[in-house]
Amino acid sequence: MIQDIAPHQLDNSFKVQTPMYSDRLFIFRDKKVLVRKTDGDIAIPLFSNITPYWPEVSDYARYLFSIDEENFFLVDESKANIVLPSEYGLENINIFRTMEPQHLGFAGITAHQLYRWYEDNAFCGRCSHPMIDSTIERARCCPTCGYITYPHISPAIIVAITDGERLLMAKNGYYQHFALIAGFVEFGETFEDTVRREIYEEVGLKVKNIRYYKSQPWAFSGTEMVGFFADLDGDDTITLRDNELQDAKWVSYDEIPQNRDHLSIAQEMIEIVRQRKHTTLNNR
Ligand SMILES: [Zn+2]
Repeated sequence: MIQDIAPHQLDNSFKVQTPMYSDRLFIFRDKKVLVRKTDGDIAIPLFSNITPYWPEVSDYARYLFSIDEENFFLVDESKANIVLPSEYGLENINIFRTMEPQHLGFAGITAHQLYRWYEDNAFCGRCSHPMIDSTIERARCCPTCGYITYPHISPAIIVAITDGERLLMAKNGYYQHFALIAGFVEFGETFEDTVRREIYEEVGLKVKNIRYYKSQPWAFSGTEMVGFFADLDGDDTITLRDNELQDAKWVSYDEIPQNRDHLSIAQEMIEIVRQRKHTTLNNR
């Protein structure tokens, strides 16, 4: 999955740090990221690349996290008037899905999640005064009313429902691939409550034997995906109930399409069912 970067290791602890020439920087504009293109390679720039064109770049840098010995910073260039040579350009953040080495792709989407949070919290949601960064933790603070906000992470469940040798697959748009049932946790719910509610709302089925599998941070949507397997309980008739899904169907294990990629927990769970390994998994 996209966060599986071993043997590399993410250190997301809060630090106040100034950049070195060898550190990397992210400059985002909406869903685009500044990259350096040389000989067909696309790379996240280092401070040593940018400093010749923008000597004050460090003054605009915010430390985000490190992976092994490499530090990553977010740079806000919106108020600076910088001109970079033609080898620099903006690319859609989807390049992070296939970026090599993979830990840089994971760094990229994680940095973009934090970028969105900083952008969304320029002003206090309670009194609308400009917010400032905390000096002791990753938080935005209001100096007027004392309101504090932390990076937003939304829990959601994803569930593979099986019945004998069949998996329930669903798609939520005409051009989408068939995938698994998923949905956000609502107030007052346990994860298991969300599993039962989402399944009933979307396809009108009941399930039993709900087993936790794994979780995945999915920075593209700021979601923490929590994966479960569950067995059908009773009637197998699919009823598309709330117009969220385009289609849903029971697919025999032999007809499940092969893995498209290894990025998401959904693809990993579908592959496990296709190989019939889900029945022997231990809870972990
Ligand atoms: Zn305030």
